[in-house]
Amino acid sequence: MNNLFNTKLNYRELINKHGSPLLILDKATVRFQYQELSRALPDVTLHYALKPLPNKDVVSSLLEEGACFDLASKGEIDLVRSLKINPMQCIHTHPIKKDNDIRYSLDYGCNTFVVDNVEEAKKFTPYKDEVKLLIRVSFPNPETPVDLSKKFGVLPEDCLELLKLAGSLGLNIHGLSFHVGSQVPNANRHVEAINDCAKIIREASDSGIKLKVLDIGGGFPVDYEKAESTNIFDFCAPIRDALKQIPSDIKIIAEPGRFLSAPAMINICTVVGKAERFNKPWYYLDDGVYCSYSGQIFDHVIYPKFTPYVDGDKQESVLAGPTCDSIDIIAENIELPALDIGDIIVGKMMGAYTISTATEFNFINKTDILVIDTERDPEYQIPAAE
Ligand SMILES: *Cc1c(COP(=O)(O)O)cnc(C)c1O
Repeated sequence: MNNLFNTKLNYRELINKHGSPLLILDKATVRFQYQELSRALPDVTLHYALKPLPNKDVVSSLLEEGACFDLASKGEIDLVRSLKINPMQCIHTHPIKKDNDIRYSLDYGCNTFVVDNVEEAKKFTPYKDEVKLLIRVSFPNPETPVDLSKKFGVLPEDCLELLKLAGSLGLNIHGLSFHVGSQVPNANRHVEAINDCAKIIREASDSGIKLKVLDIGGGFPVDYEKAESTNIFDFCAPIRDALKQIPSDIKIIAEPGRFLSAPAMINICTVVGKAERFNKPWYYLDDGVYCSYSGQIFDHVIYPKFTPYVDGDKQESVLAGPTCDSIDIIAENIELPALDIGDIIVGKMMGAYTISTATEFNFINKTDILVIDTERDPEYQIPAAE
């Protein structure tokens, strides 16, 4: 099956035709990633978290595979709604909402929400007959650079009390959720969180509260170093094992974001200027950290980059972005062959937390996304000349 891991693209022709800089989104890679994760977590309903790449072609490709969706804002609701996605396939997982956000979601028909404290639970009393609540439990993860459990979640030891309180408000407590952080190095934290949730589910049951859902969140990693397909089946083996202890009448769901979107997009940009500074060649590109490479700042990722058409002796070089700010530097010590104005740089694995955090600083437009399908578009069936 063709996808961006195994298909060569004619980068030069693509930017000749569509302009530079350019992001290329491959729908076949989105489907491939979904199939891989489904195989790794066979009894888990996957809700794509739109946050890393809220894009209609990503969403419709996943819909075709039978995916469900994880929403956190009005814009994300608008996107799935415009594609006529059944709201019952969606959950709203932002732990902190305005009343207006709750109504917006209910108006669409999405009625599963996440709360992690009493103040938030109280916001749902006016809608208590229509909503289902998941309690977000906090499992801090010092191993990930994006540790979301410090901002959200009730501590496991305080969870039962919150369940009881929400119950006493007449709210429908549907289950538990957690998110152990993004791009986690191994499944240890998922396993610990599942073990702790299993305990909370038993304690709740003993107190007469029957939970129906366990949401194991996102965090599934991709390989930024090698830009190769992750063996997600092996990565998830401990998770599959840990889930065996959860009673079979509890539905398991997950919220993958990065894993589904990161490998599905590449960036092509062009050297538009060069200079010699401090004994190093500096190459000025037409894309940078304020736009497609913004994930370097916000998501702490270094993307794999290469020069598809230039070879030769390498030397330490600098790649700088197009804005007039000095932090707009993509790489300060990258080994590159000598480049000329007009040469192109390709960045891989650039689908997640990249264009979604881009700005238009310096009044420079965001990079266009060209949507392709390496499996179905006839031109990708023949290997492209490099
Ligand atoms: C961001 C987020 C996700 C997606 O996380 P990934 O690491 O991209 O898989 C899932 N759930 C919640 C609640 C999030 O905030």
